[in-house]
Amino acid sequence: MPSGGARTVGDLVERGHERVLIGCDKCDRTGSYGLGGLIVRYGLDLRLPALLALVSADCPRRAGQGLDRCGVVYRKGTSLANRPK
Ligand SMILES: [Zn+2]
Repeated sequence: MPSGGARTVGDLVERGHERVLIGCDKCDRTGSYGLGGLIVRYGLDLRLPALLALVSADCPRRAGQGLDRCGVVYRKGTSLANRPK
């Protein structure tokens, strides 16, 4: 893991994010999730890949194989990389 990259929900809050946009191209859906609510439910140390898994738990393609598999990702608008100050 590169240092400085956001790895947990707490990291996103530190960077000034209030919400994350998560969507799945295969299922054609996008959701906006308030970080405050996520932290209350899961804690500051929730890792971002784990959050994707939680959010996509009800995706119909979650158990798919190969190309048919769920493609849930963080959408633009959620900067997970270092941003110039
Ligand atoms: Zn999906």
